Amino acid sequence: MRMQSPIIRRQSRQIMVGKVPVGGGAPIAVQSMTNTDTCDVSATLAQIKRLEDVGADIVRVSVPTMDAAEAFRLIRAGTTVPLVADIHFDYRIALKVLEYGVDCLRINPGNIGRDDRVKAVIESARDHGVPLRIGVNAGSLGKELLRKYGEPNADAMVESALHHIDILDSYDFQDYKVSLKASEVFMTVAAYRKLATQIDQPLHLGITEAGGLRSGTVKSSIGLGLLLMDGIGDTIRISLAADPVEEIKVGFDILKSLGLRRKGVNLIACPSCSRQNFDVIAVVNALEARLEDITAPIDVSVVGCIVNGPGEAYVADIGLTGATPMNMAYVDGQTSHKIANENLVDELEAMVRRKVAQQQSQEQGQEPGQEPHAQDPHPATPLRIIQKTGTSFE
Ligand code: SF4
Repeated sequence: MRMQSPIIRRQSRQIMVGKVPVGGGAPIAVQSMTNTDTCDVSATLAQIKRLEDVGADIVRVSVPTMDAAEAFRLIRAGTTVPLVADIHFDYRIALKVLEYGVDCLRINPGNIGRDDRVKAVIESARDHGVPLRIGVNAGSLGKELLRKYGEPNADAMVESALHHIDILDSYDFQDYKVSLKASEVFMTVAAYRKLATQIDQPLHLGITEAGGLRSGTVKSSIGLGLLLMDGIGDTIRISLAADPVEEIKVGFDILKSLGLRRKGVNLIACPSCSRQNFDVIAVVNALEARLEDITAPIDVSVVGCIVNGPGEAYVADIGLTGATPMNMAYVDGQTSHKIANENLVDELEAMVRRKVAQQQSQEQGQEPGQEPHAQDPHPATPLRIIQKTGTSFE
């Protein structure tokens, strides 16, 4: 019932990371990365399951050694979530995980070394239908670029990306996405904006080493928010020094706040004040915890008094306005019934679950996996993109 996003997304070609489309107007995919020891297969699979449970579309796993590659084979067999293997230099590891069923390789072709090794990786990726992710990080730019630019900056990051892209171009390999991450918001945003006008491949957004849960969330929200508002971004990873599960939650919250994904509960809550007729913060925290498993899109407003309660409830699927002696519940913007303070959390949870079940039964005719409102609501306006060659296409 809430807003349709006014964002016009950059037109990009689509790649497939396993079963998940990235780019080409597909819903912006939310991903995270495991931080377990990859060789500890059961711990890694357990973390992947936790990420899957909160809605992760894609999970990246670091594969730094051949032992980790062998562990990856078991991890691959233990989950259906699309997996990206993070490999920095060793082409043999890349070939191994391609053989074991990886869905995307994060590897920079310029870092692989000899031409025959680069060719082997690219040809194997092509044979397996596996895309690559070029990942440029401001903290690991090559010495030549640092000499040329003096310090990491957006131009150096874009030049680095174009160097890797040129290698893929030389093999006529176009099945890739690109990330340009810095820990500094302005540099990151400038780099993505520049590259977005030069290629049509999907862009993987992130502010690297963003910080802890609170500071990293703020920094990521500002940086990614600026880019997403420009229509830039096909998949996102929030880098937090925190439980990776939080990265997925923050990622979805950013997309939900911009109307770009409608997955799970969109909770509208007032900050509370002395007018509140129930403990808003306690109810919101309890509801958030209880409704974490819900992936269907639903707007729920929880507001402490009539100052803003009815207005918010009017545009929510489920609403609550605090009042004395009884609070008022709403369904589809209409008043429903009264609830006592002591029953608030139980009753709201039950209302949300009933509403989700009702929506799902109404959508049974829809294709499985289709996400209502997830597609770009304004696909009609083409964005002219100038290719590196200077040719343009729409
Ligand atoms: S909606 Fe009411 S309770 Fe909530 S912050 Fe505003 S005035 Fe206070």
